[in-house]
Amino acid sequence: MEENEKKLSKVGIVSCSGEDLPEGSISRLATLEVLHHKKLFDTTTICLPLYIAGGEGDRMFAKNHPTITVDGCEKLCAKKATEKYSGKVAHSINVRDFIKSPDDVKNKSNLNEDKKRITSEVADAISIKVDEILKENNK
Ligand code: SF4
Repeated sequence: MEENEKKLSKVGIVSCSGEDLPEGSISRLATLEVLHHKKLFDTTTICLPLYIAGGEGDRMFAKNHPTITVDGCEKLCAKKATEKYSGKVAHSINVRDFIKSPDDVKNKSNLNEDKKRITSEVADAISIKVDEILKENNK
């Protein structure tokens, strides 16, 4: 199926699973906020470890639906894996583009106010893109 032929009712959100970096946690929290609250009926997720391990259902879904990847750093693991196994993503988000100061994410363990703000901004950016993709694909 060609990229521009992807008709859809849902957008797949693929978050990186970076446990070692606060930005990886922010990726997952922002993705969950979109999946469970902001775009409950418009999105679904793909479990990145299963996807990489060979999850055929998830790979097929990502081949046939637009995906937004959310990564915690420039290594872009979610984007690279998705494009390797399922084709070009519709949009890619790097949490680091939302960080104004390294101090915002200095503490690994606490979800402080800065991290909450960044998480909220990333979730908003995902949601806006979901709306754009659905509007464009369902014209
Ligand atoms: S994109 Fe960065 S934070 Fe996310 S899994 Fe890869 S290396 Fe870890």
